[in-house]
Amino acid sequence: MVNIGIVIPAAGQGKRMGAGYNKQFLMLMDKPILAHTIRLFEESNFVSEIVIVAAEGDVSIIEELVYHQEFQKVVAICIGGVFRQDSVRAGVRALSPTIQRIVVHDGARPLLTLQAFHKFLEVTQGHSAAIMGVDIKDTVKRVDIAGNVLETLPRDNLRAVQTPQIFDRRVLEEAHQKAVSAGYYGTDDASLLEWMGHPVKMVEGMQENIKVTTPEDLWLAERILSMRDSRGARREQET
Ligand code: C5P
Repeated sequence: MVNIGIVIPAAGQGKRMGAGYNKQFLMLMDKPILAHTIRLFEESNFVSEIVIVAAEGDVSIIEELVYHQEFQKVVAICIGGVFRQDSVRAGVRALSPTIQRIVVHDGARPLLTLQAFHKFLEVTQGHSAAIMGVDIKDTVKRVDIAGNVLETLPRDNLRAVQTPQIFDRRVLEEAHQKAVSAGYYGTDDASLLEWMGHPVKMVEGMQENIKVTTPEDLWLAERILSMRDSRGARREQET
């Protein structure tokens, strides 16, 4: 289970954050959101390469971040596209040909833990495509464009999908290739595989692995990290 390549799409506009610049550069405790995300993979022994996909105007900022944080595994910072899917496609192309297993993880999800990531790698072994998802706490309804409720969806069968998502390179490349030729767009990579009829395994994710999208998410992410810090400090005191 070594030689995994990571693609981190970080080329979004982050308009919902209202920061006026890429939300992934906002500080979360001691470092930018994106630095937390990269740090996790940098520290994993199973990861050999990391590719970051950036908006054209952000490349130099990310180069600087990689330099200052002393990340050793970042092999490329490439330029993303209009949609997330275009960005991931560009990122996959930048990985060395020796990488045969790829994990895609949103730059905006800085709270994944090493323990959860390694568990994910372990339980997804033998699956050519697998994703993390969590139970949905709210009742979910389908509505029409006027806001009228059409139906209530059975919650037991629904999952809110996160990243990381892991794929055999061959399958991921095929899905992206077919999707781009057909003009098909999905909001995550797994949906491209589903669209071409390839099985995707769902495994239990972590509720804390939020995507930092709005100012409220950033507030919550800070609370989660300080909770982890104080738990860690308590454990140190006890030992
Ligand atoms: O837009 P969304 O919240 O789904 O973005 C998820 C991740 O994909 C973010 O980390 C964002 O920066 C990235 N993204 C990208 N290229 C785009 C759009 C989003 O790399 N064109």
